[in-house]
Amino acid sequence: MRYKRLGRTNLELSVISFGGLALFFKEIDEATALIEAALDEGINYIDCDEAGNQFVPALVYEDTRNKLGPVLKRRRNELVVGIKSMFAKKEDVARDIDKALEYIFKGTGKEKIDIFHLAHVDVDEKLDLLLSPAGGLAAVDEARQQGKLDHVLVASHNPKVLLRALKTGQFDVAEFPFTIIEQDYLKEVVPYCREHDIGTIAMKPLGGGQLTQRADLCIRWIMNHDVDIIIPGMKTMEELKQNIQPGHNYVPLSQEELKELEEIARPIGQEYCHRCGYCLPCSQGIHIFSQIDMYKTATISLEQKRSLYKQMKARGAKTAGDCVACGLCIEKCPFKLPIPEILERADKALSGE
Ligand code: SF4
Ligand code: SF4
Repeated sequence: MRYKRLGRTNLELSVISFGGLALFFKEIDEATALIEAALDEGINYIDCDEAGNQFVPALVYEDTRNKLGPVLKRRRNELVVGIKSMFAKKEDVARDIDKALEYIFKGTGKEKIDIFHLAHVDVDEKLDLLLSPAGGLAAVDEARQQGKLDHVLVASHNPKVLLRALKTGQFDVAEFPFTIIEQDYLKEVVPYCREHDIGTIAMKPLGGGQLTQRADLCIRWIMNHDVDIIIPGMKTMEELKQNIQPGHNYVPLSQEELKELEEIARPIGQEYCHRCGYCLPCSQGIHIFSQIDMYKTATISLEQKRSLYKQMKARGAKTAGDCVACGLCIEKCPFKLPIPEILERADKALSGE
Protein backbone atom coordinates (compact mmCIF):
# COMPACT_ATOMS: atom_id res chain seq x y z
CA MET A 1 0.00 0.00 0.00
CA ARG A 2 1.22 3.52 -0.82
CA TYR A 3 1.05 6.13 1.92
CA LYS A 4 0.90 9.90 1.67
CA ARG A 5 1.47 12.72 4.14
CA LEU A 6 -1.85 14.41 4.96
CA GLY A 7 -0.63 18.00 4.88
CA ARG A 8 0.27 19.71 8.15
CA THR A 9 -1.18 16.85 10.23
CA ASN A 10 2.02 15.00 9.30
CA LEU A 11 0.01 11.76 9.38
CA GLU A 12 1.15 9.22 6.80
CA LEU A 13 -2.09 7.69 5.57
CA SER A 14 -2.92 4.96 3.07
CA VAL A 15 -3.72 6.45 -0.34
CA ILE A 16 -6.82 4.26 -0.40
CA SER A 17 -8.52 4.62 2.95
CA PHE A 18 -11.90 3.50 4.26
CA GLY A 19 -15.11 5.48 3.71
CA GLY A 20 -17.24 4.24 6.60
CA LEU A 21 -20.80 4.92 5.39
CA ALA A 22 -21.38 1.42 3.99
CA LEU A 23 -20.57 -0.12 7.39
CA PHE A 24 -23.70 1.47 8.80
CA PHE A 25 -25.77 -0.90 6.68
CA LYS A 26 -23.87 -4.06 7.65
CA GLU A 27 -24.41 -6.42 10.55
CA ILE A 28 -21.91 -5.94 13.37
CA ASP A 29 -19.86 -9.09 12.65
CA GLU A 30 -19.60 -8.37 8.94
CA ALA A 31 -18.64 -4.74 9.53
CA THR A 32 -15.98 -5.66 12.06
CA ALA A 33 -14.55 -8.31 9.69
CA LEU A 34 -14.35 -5.72 6.89
CA ILE A 35 -12.47 -3.26 9.09
CA GLU A 36 -10.05 -5.97 10.20
CA ALA A 37 -9.48 -7.04 6.58
CA ALA A 38 -8.84 -3.44 5.56
CA LEU A 39 -6.22 -3.10 8.29
CA ASP A 40 -4.60 -6.33 7.16
CA GLU A 41 -4.36 -4.86 3.64
CA GLY A 42 -2.51 -1.80 4.95
CA ILE A 43 -5.39 0.70 5.21
CA ASN A 44 -4.73 2.92 8.21
CA TYR A 45 -7.48 5.57 8.09
CA ILE A 46 -11.23 5.18 8.54
CA ASP A 47 -13.66 8.00 7.94
CA CYS A 48 -16.68 7.18 10.13
CA ASP A 49 -20.23 7.94 9.04
CA GLU A 50 -23.60 6.88 10.38
CA ALA A 51 -25.95 8.13 7.65
CA GLY A 52 -29.15 9.69 9.05
CA ASN A 53 -28.23 8.80 12.63
CA GLN A 54 -25.53 11.48 12.47
CA PHE A 55 -28.33 14.01 12.76
CA VAL A 56 -30.00 12.37 15.78
CA PRO A 57 -28.12 13.22 19.00
CA ALA A 58 -29.58 10.27 20.91
CA LEU A 59 -28.34 7.76 18.31
CA VAL A 60 -25.10 9.16 16.98
CA TYR A 61 -21.89 7.08 17.43
CA GLU A 62 -23.78 4.03 18.73
CA ASP A 63 -23.25 2.20 15.46
CA THR A 64 -19.54 3.12 15.32
CA ARG A 65 -19.13 2.06 18.94
CA ASN A 66 -20.58 -1.36 18.15
CA LYS A 67 -18.65 -1.98 14.93
CA LEU A 68 -15.35 -0.08 15.14
CA GLY A 69 -15.09 -0.08 18.94
CA PRO A 70 -14.05 -3.74 19.35
CA VAL A 71 -11.37 -3.37 16.64
CA LEU A 72 -9.97 -0.22 18.26
CA LYS A 73 -9.65 -1.98 21.60
CA ARG A 74 -7.24 -4.43 19.93
CA ARG A 75 -5.61 -2.39 17.15
CA ARG A 76 -5.84 1.32 18.06
CA ASN A 77 -2.21 1.97 17.15
CA GLU A 78 -2.81 0.76 13.57
CA LEU A 79 -5.67 3.10 12.79
CA VAL A 80 -6.24 6.84 12.44
CA VAL A 81 -9.93 7.64 13.00
CA GLY A 82 -12.01 10.48 11.56
CA ILE A 83 -15.18 11.34 13.49
CA LYS A 84 -17.75 13.80 12.20
CA SER A 85 -20.32 16.17 13.61
CA MET A 86 -23.12 17.50 11.43
CA PHE A 87 -23.95 20.29 13.84
CA ALA A 88 -22.87 23.94 13.94
CA LYS A 89 -23.73 25.26 17.41
CA LYS A 90 -21.07 25.15 20.10
CA GLU A 91 -23.07 23.09 22.59
CA ASP A 92 -24.02 20.49 19.95
CA VAL A 93 -20.46 20.05 18.69
CA ALA A 94 -19.12 19.86 22.27
CA ARG A 95 -21.69 17.17 23.04
CA ASP A 96 -20.63 15.17 19.95
CA ILE A 97 -16.93 15.37 20.88
CA ASP A 98 -17.55 14.11 24.42
CA LYS A 99 -19.91 11.41 23.24
CA ALA A 100 -17.44 10.16 20.60
CA LEU A 101 -14.71 9.95 23.24
CA GLU A 102 -16.97 8.04 25.60
CA TYR A 103 -18.49 5.69 23.03
CA ILE A 104 -15.63 4.99 20.62
CA PHE A 105 -12.25 5.73 22.19
CA LYS A 106 -12.70 4.94 25.89
CA GLY A 107 -10.68 1.91 26.89
CA THR A 108 -8.50 1.97 23.75
CA GLY A 109 -4.76 2.63 23.60
CA LYS A 110 -5.32 6.31 22.70
CA GLU A 111 -8.39 8.01 24.14
CA LYS A 112 -8.35 10.92 21.73
CA ILE A 113 -10.03 11.78 18.40
CA ASP A 114 -7.40 11.82 15.64
CA ILE A 115 -9.26 13.95 13.09
CA PHE A 116 -12.48 15.70 14.06
CA HIS A 117 -14.72 16.69 11.16
CA LEU A 118 -17.06 19.62 10.94
CA ALA A 119 -19.14 18.11 8.15
CA HIS A 120 -21.67 19.31 5.59
CA VAL A 121 -20.37 22.87 5.66
CA ASP A 122 -22.12 23.53 2.36
CA VAL A 123 -23.73 26.93 2.79
CA ASP A 124 -22.43 30.29 4.03
CA GLU A 125 -24.98 30.45 6.87
CA LYS A 126 -23.66 27.25 8.44
CA LEU A 127 -20.07 28.42 8.13
CA ASP A 128 -20.99 31.78 9.69
CA LEU A 129 -22.55 30.01 12.66
CA LEU A 130 -19.60 27.64 13.06
CA LEU A 131 -17.18 30.57 13.12
CA SER A 132 -19.25 32.72 15.53
CA PRO A 133 -18.50 32.81 19.30
CA ALA A 134 -21.50 30.48 19.81
CA GLY A 135 -20.32 28.20 17.02
CA GLY A 136 -18.85 24.72 16.80
CA LEU A 137 -15.32 25.85 16.09
CA ALA A 138 -15.13 27.34 19.60
CA ALA A 139 -16.00 23.90 21.00
CA VAL A 140 -13.33 22.32 18.80
CA ASP A 141 -10.69 24.83 20.02
CA GLU A 142 -11.55 24.12 23.65
CA ALA A 143 -11.48 20.37 23.05
CA ARG A 144 -8.09 20.65 21.36
CA GLN A 145 -6.70 22.63 24.29
CA GLN A 146 -8.05 19.96 26.65
CA GLY A 147 -6.27 17.24 24.66
CA LYS A 148 -9.49 15.65 23.37
CA LEU A 149 -8.58 15.81 19.66
CA ASP A 150 -5.56 16.26 17.41
CA HIS A 151 -6.62 17.69 14.04
CA VAL A 152 -9.61 19.52 12.57
CA LEU A 153 -11.17 18.86 9.17
CA VAL A 154 -13.81 20.76 7.25
CA ALA A 155 -15.95 18.77 4.81
CA SER A 156 -18.01 20.51 2.16
CA HIS A 157 -19.82 19.87 -1.12
CA ASN A 158 -19.46 23.50 -2.18
CA PRO A 159 -16.04 24.70 -3.39
CA LYS A 160 -16.75 28.40 -2.66
CA VAL A 161 -17.86 27.80 0.93
CA LEU A 162 -15.00 25.35 1.44
CA LEU A 163 -12.43 27.86 0.23
CA ARG A 164 -13.87 30.50 2.56
CA ALA A 165 -13.59 28.06 5.47
CA LEU A 166 -10.01 27.17 4.61
CA LYS A 167 -9.02 30.83 4.40
CA THR A 168 -9.81 31.22 8.11
CA GLY A 169 -6.66 29.18 8.74
CA GLN A 170 -8.52 27.06 11.28
CA PHE A 171 -8.54 23.75 9.42
CA ASP A 172 -5.78 21.17 8.93
CA VAL A 173 -7.62 19.06 6.35
CA ALA A 174 -10.20 19.64 3.59
CA GLU A 175 -12.59 16.88 2.48
CA PHE A 176 -14.65 17.24 -0.68
CA PRO A 177 -16.35 15.09 -3.34
CA PHE A 178 -14.02 14.52 -6.24
CA THR A 179 -14.73 12.63 -9.46
CA ILE A 180 -14.47 13.12 -13.20
CA ILE A 181 -17.92 14.82 -12.89
CA GLU A 182 -16.94 17.06 -9.95
CA GLN A 183 -13.68 18.74 -10.88
CA ASP A 184 -14.37 22.28 -9.64
CA TYR A 185 -12.17 21.73 -6.59
CA LEU A 186 -9.10 21.68 -8.84
CA LYS A 187 -9.53 25.36 -9.70
CA GLU A 188 -8.95 27.03 -6.32
CA VAL A 189 -9.40 24.60 -3.42
CA VAL A 190 -6.61 22.15 -4.24
CA PRO A 191 -4.01 24.86 -5.09
CA TYR A 192 -4.90 26.72 -1.86
CA CYS A 193 -4.48 23.51 0.14
CA ARG A 194 -1.10 22.86 -1.44
CA GLU A 195 0.09 26.41 -0.77
CA HIS A 196 -0.97 26.24 2.90
CA ASP A 197 -0.04 22.61 3.60
CA ILE A 198 -3.66 21.57 4.21
CA GLY A 199 -4.34 17.85 3.74
CA THR A 200 -6.89 16.79 1.10
CA ILE A 201 -9.32 13.88 1.17
CA ALA A 202 -11.42 12.90 -1.85
CA MET A 203 -14.80 11.72 -0.66
CA LYS A 204 -17.56 10.11 -2.74
CA PRO A 205 -14.95 8.95 -5.31
CA LEU A 206 -17.60 6.81 -7.00
CA GLY A 207 -20.03 9.72 -7.35
CA GLY A 208 -21.94 8.79 -4.20
CA GLY A 209 -22.55 5.32 -5.64
CA GLN A 210 -23.49 6.44 -9.17
CA LEU A 211 -20.23 5.44 -10.88
CA THR A 212 -19.77 2.01 -9.34
CA GLN A 213 -19.73 0.05 -12.60
CA ARG A 214 -16.05 0.98 -13.16
CA ALA A 215 -14.85 1.81 -9.65
CA ASP A 216 -11.27 1.00 -10.61
CA LEU A 217 -11.26 3.66 -13.35
CA CYS A 218 -12.75 6.27 -11.00
CA ILE A 219 -10.15 5.63 -8.33
CA ARG A 220 -7.23 5.61 -10.76
CA TRP A 221 -8.53 8.84 -12.34
CA ILE A 222 -8.43 10.52 -8.91
CA MET A 223 -4.96 9.15 -8.21
CA ASN A 224 -3.79 10.94 -11.31
CA HIS A 225 -4.71 14.26 -9.63
CA ASP A 226 -3.23 16.20 -6.76
CA VAL A 227 -5.20 14.95 -3.75
CA ASP A 228 -3.73 13.08 -0.80
CA ILE A 229 -6.07 10.23 0.01
CA ILE A 230 -9.29 8.68 -1.31
CA ILE A 231 -12.05 7.13 0.80
CA PRO A 232 -14.25 4.77 -1.23
CA GLY A 233 -16.98 2.92 0.62
CA MET A 234 -16.47 -0.86 0.79
CA LYS A 235 -19.40 -3.03 1.71
CA THR A 236 -18.08 -6.49 0.76
CA MET A 237 -14.71 -8.25 0.84
CA GLU A 238 -14.80 -8.29 -2.95
CA GLU A 239 -15.25 -4.52 -3.12
CA LEU A 240 -12.51 -4.04 -0.58
CA LYS A 241 -10.04 -6.07 -2.67
CA GLN A 242 -11.09 -4.27 -5.85
CA ASN A 243 -10.95 -0.74 -4.42
CA ILE A 244 -7.59 -1.08 -2.73
CA GLN A 245 -5.86 -2.61 -5.73
CA PRO A 246 -4.66 0.77 -7.13
CA GLY A 247 -3.18 1.54 -3.70
CA HIS A 248 -0.95 -1.51 -4.04
CA ASN A 249 -0.19 -1.19 -7.71
CA TYR A 250 -1.13 2.08 -9.43
CA VAL A 251 -1.32 2.05 -13.22
CA PRO A 252 -2.29 5.38 -14.87
CA LEU A 253 -5.41 5.34 -17.05
CA SER A 254 -4.79 4.65 -20.72
CA GLN A 255 -6.44 6.88 -23.36
CA GLU A 256 -9.00 4.10 -24.00
CA GLU A 257 -9.83 3.81 -20.30
CA LEU A 258 -10.18 7.58 -19.95
CA LYS A 259 -12.57 7.58 -22.90
CA GLU A 260 -14.55 4.74 -21.35
CA LEU A 261 -14.84 6.63 -18.04
CA GLU A 262 -15.90 9.82 -19.83
CA GLU A 263 -18.60 7.88 -21.63
CA ILE A 264 -19.89 6.31 -18.43
CA ALA A 265 -19.90 9.73 -16.70
CA ARG A 266 -21.56 11.74 -19.50
CA PRO A 267 -25.21 10.64 -19.04
CA ILE A 268 -24.87 10.65 -15.23
CA GLY A 269 -23.43 14.17 -15.35
CA GLN A 270 -26.52 15.47 -17.15
CA GLU A 271 -28.69 15.07 -14.04
CA TYR A 272 -25.98 15.02 -11.42
CA CYS A 273 -26.60 16.75 -8.12
CA HIS A 274 -23.31 18.23 -6.87
CA ARG A 275 -24.70 18.57 -3.32
CA CYS A 276 -23.55 22.19 -3.34
CA GLY A 277 -26.58 23.34 -1.34
CA TYR A 278 -27.37 26.47 -3.37
CA CYS A 279 -30.96 25.24 -3.68
CA LEU A 280 -31.47 25.45 0.11
CA PRO A 281 -33.46 26.38 2.03
CA CYS A 282 -36.44 24.64 0.48
CA SER A 283 -39.79 26.32 1.12
CA GLN A 284 -40.95 23.06 2.76
CA GLY A 285 -37.77 22.38 4.72
CA ILE A 286 -36.64 19.40 2.59
CA HIS A 287 -32.90 18.71 2.64
CA ILE A 288 -32.98 18.49 -1.15
CA PHE A 289 -29.65 16.97 -2.01
CA SER A 290 -29.73 14.32 0.72
CA GLN A 291 -33.01 13.11 -0.78
CA ILE A 292 -31.61 13.09 -4.33
CA ASP A 293 -28.51 11.31 -3.03
CA MET A 294 -30.57 8.64 -1.33
CA TYR A 295 -32.56 8.09 -4.51
CA LYS A 296 -29.58 7.90 -6.88
CA THR A 297 -26.92 6.05 -4.91
CA ALA A 298 -26.13 2.41 -5.59
CA THR A 299 -24.08 2.16 -2.38
CA ILE A 300 -27.10 0.74 -0.56
CA SER A 301 -29.91 -1.48 -1.81
CA LEU A 302 -33.40 -0.25 -2.67
CA GLU A 303 -34.69 -2.19 0.31
CA GLN A 304 -32.28 -0.37 2.64
CA LYS A 305 -33.20 2.96 1.09
CA ARG A 306 -36.91 2.27 1.62
CA SER A 307 -36.31 1.36 5.22
CA LEU A 308 -34.33 4.60 5.80
CA TYR A 309 -37.02 6.65 4.05
CA LYS A 310 -39.69 5.10 6.26
CA GLN A 311 -37.66 5.87 9.37
CA MET A 312 -37.23 9.50 8.27
CA LYS A 313 -40.98 9.86 7.80
CA ALA A 314 -41.65 8.24 11.15
CA ARG A 315 -39.46 10.82 12.90
CA GLY A 316 -41.25 13.63 11.09
CA ALA A 317 -38.30 14.61 8.85
CA LYS A 318 -39.22 16.27 5.56
CA THR A 319 -38.78 13.92 2.60
CA ALA A 320 -38.98 14.06 -1.20
CA GLY A 321 -42.73 13.47 -1.00
CA ASP A 322 -43.22 16.82 0.79
CA CYS A 323 -42.20 18.79 -2.32
CA VAL A 324 -45.03 21.07 -3.46
CA ALA A 325 -43.27 21.99 -6.74
CA CYS A 326 -43.08 25.68 -5.83
CA GLY A 327 -40.03 26.01 -8.13
CA LEU A 328 -38.01 28.19 -5.74
CA CYS A 329 -35.06 25.80 -5.76
CA ILE A 330 -34.78 25.52 -9.54
CA GLU A 331 -33.88 29.18 -9.87
CA LYS A 332 -31.13 28.79 -7.27
CA CYS A 333 -29.58 25.58 -8.65
CA PRO A 334 -26.52 26.52 -10.77
CA PHE A 335 -27.02 23.33 -12.78
CA LYS A 336 -30.72 24.02 -13.36
CA LEU A 337 -31.72 20.52 -12.32
CA PRO A 338 -35.44 19.76 -12.57
CA ILE A 339 -35.57 19.26 -8.79
CA PRO A 340 -39.34 18.79 -8.29
CA GLU A 341 -39.41 16.15 -11.04
CA ILE A 342 -36.45 14.32 -9.55
CA LEU A 343 -38.04 14.44 -6.08
CA GLU A 344 -41.31 13.10 -7.45
CA ARG A 345 -39.46 10.14 -8.97
CA ALA A 346 -37.48 9.74 -5.75
CA ASP A 347 -40.63 9.62 -3.62
CA LYS A 348 -42.19 7.00 -5.87
CA ALA A 349 -39.09 4.80 -5.77
CA LEU A 350 -38.33 5.27 -2.07
CA SER A 351 -41.84 4.85 -0.79
CA GLY A 352 -42.35 1.81 -3.04
CA GLU A 353 -45.54 3.15 -4.59
S1 SF4 B 1 -30.01 20.36 -6.61
FE1 SF4 B 1 -28.64 21.82 -7.62
S2 SF4 B 1 -28.28 23.44 -6.10
FE2 SF4 B 1 -29.17 21.69 -5.01
S3 SF4 B 1 -27.40 20.62 -4.23
FE3 SF4 B 1 -27.95 19.67 -6.19
S4 SF4 B 1 -26.70 20.71 -7.72
FE4 SF4 B 1 -26.64 21.96 -5.87
S1 SF4 C 1 -39.85 22.87 -5.60
FE1 SF4 C 1 -40.00 21.36 -3.96
S2 SF4 C 1 -37.90 21.05 -3.31
FE2 SF4 C 1 -37.92 22.95 -4.47
S3 SF4 C 1 -38.17 24.56 -2.91
FE3 SF4 C 1 -40.22 24.01 -3.69
S4 SF4 C 1 -40.94 22.45 -2.27
FE4 SF4 C 1 -38.75 22.61 -1.97
